[in-house]
Amino acid sequence: MCQHQPPCPSADSADREAAHPVAHHPEQGWSLLCNGVVLFDDTGELLPDGQIIAPHKPLDTHEVTTAA
Ligand SMILES: [Zn+2]
Repeated sequence: MCQHQPPCPSADSADREAAHPVAHHPEQGWSLLCNGVVLFDDTGELLPDGQIIAPHKPLDTHEVTTAA
């Protein structure tokens, strides 16, 4: 289903989150990646086979560390 070059990581790859988002719903807090993975804003994932991946990354707080 992926039309990208180079092809995106498959849903069973450890690198699955690197796939291109094909649908983004920030108001609902999730994105659909082109490998069929649903990626939630809290870094949880729903795989195409129905498997749930718990959130596993600290949220990016967008804090800028200014080194004076
Ligand atoms: Zn792709």
